[in-house]
Amino acid sequence: MGIVVQKFGGTSVADAQKIKNVADAVIREKLNGNKVIVVVSAMGHTTDNLIKLSKEITTTPSEREMDMLLSTGEQISMSLLAMAINEKGHKAVSLNAMQVGIMTEHNHGRARILEIKQQRVKKHLDNDEIIIIAGFQGITDDGEITTLGRGGSDTSAVALAAAFNADRCDIYSDVEGVYTTDPRVVPTAQKLKVISYEEMLELARVGANVLHPRSVETAKLFGVPMRVRSSFKLDDLGTLIIGVDEMELHKPVTGVACDSSQVRIVICDVEDRPGNASKLFTLLANKGLSVDMIIQSYARSVGNTNDIAFTIDSADLVKFSEVTEEIKKIVNPSNIFIDEDIAKVSIVGAGMIDRPGIAAEMFETLAKIGVNIKMISTSEIKISCLVEKNHAKECIIALCRTFDLDGAAVADVKGDLPD
Ligand code: ADP
Ligand code: ASP
Ligand code: MG
Repeated sequence: MGIVVQKFGGTSVADAQKIKNVADAVIREKLNGNKVIVVVSAMGHTTDNLIKLSKEITTTPSEREMDMLLSTGEQISMSLLAMAINEKGHKAVSLNAMQVGIMTEHNHGRARILEIKQQRVKKHLDNDEIIIIAGFQGITDDGEITTLGRGGSDTSAVALAAAFNADRCDIYSDVEGVYTTDPRVVPTAQKLKVISYEEMLELARVGANVLHPRSVETAKLFGVPMRVRSSFKLDDLGTLIIGVDEMELHKPVTGVACDSSQVRIVICDVEDRPGNASKLFTLLANKGLSVDMIIQSYARSVGNTNDIAFTIDSADLVKFSEVTEEIKKIVNPSNIFIDEDIAKVSIVGAGMIDRPGIAAEMFETLAKIGVNIKMISTSEIKISCLVEKNHAKECIIALCRTFDLDGAAVADVKGDLPD
């Protein structure tokens, strides 16, 4: 008997009726002859609402107390789902991270899973029970509750699938699979039948929040077969995520994503000498600030200074403000400029390797719609451009057109053809 892990996101368990529907989907998998481990997110917007509530109390809550608060969301949905399954005549038991032993680093708000204990889950599986596990949360070796970062239930599910050698891990969501871009932004985006771990990982990192990046990283590392599928259309197999070497690459670009949650910081007129960049980024790292894009300009001939620009998560701005005085002391800039009006638009595709001209096509597309690029970064299978926030949507639409990722573009071409 194989093990299947099913993960249901917030919209799938948003109310009592939806929880009952999820119970049917779980029972269906069990009746197919599988042992089933289910991972749930918090109901609907519970996590957002808890964050809002905390902000009414304080703007600087401790990270530990935030984890204590946010981890409650998943405990509500796990117990309700277990009740719904029991009500339908099947044996189910809900377990939180402490009961399972989902061991993480001692890093509140963004902990990584280190190990998953086998004993408790195995006991219930041997007892032929359906196990419902709270996603998003973990526990440290000294008994502290942690969370894995927003969207982290996907990672809980894949980690459990890897730990119990599951046949597959199905991520059920409010979309029918992974699309070429967010179907809420471009309704004509196309659903992908397959995507490689590598491409999905890049897309998730640059803003396609349909999957938590670490879930894809974990699936790739342990070779967990993973699908994104709809909790409302159970017969639809959604999108399969597989190794890039198993794929046939037809197009240079597979998807477009956008991240509007970053801010750009420019440290102006830093003296151009060895050690300054190192001092600056060591300071940021010690403060726990992770930096994404970095650009250093050419040194100016007068004054021998350059500008260092980088992006950080907007949620980290408060932390950044706590180190500005120290930055002034160590690198003596003429100014520190913070630009919140940015969005990072990215194209991703394994097919762009060894295919020259893709970057030029991207820049030309943005130029044609009159959008100025503020920063550029690339990896082997990704190109990202920083643009003004209010231009992000038109950039995504235009890029989908250029790289043939949008059903409407295909329809247009077809429309030009004679009957
Ligand atoms: P869940 O609550 O099920 O975890 P999420 O809100 O985290 O759901 O993820 C699903 C959402 O991801 C979709 O509603 C969609 O708007 C968004 N999304 C962003 N990029 C993509 C993409 N490329 N394909 C599909 N969905 C995407
Ligand atoms: N409930 C958490 C969140 O909203 C985790 C998740 O949904 O995966 O981020
Ligand atoms: Mg999610």
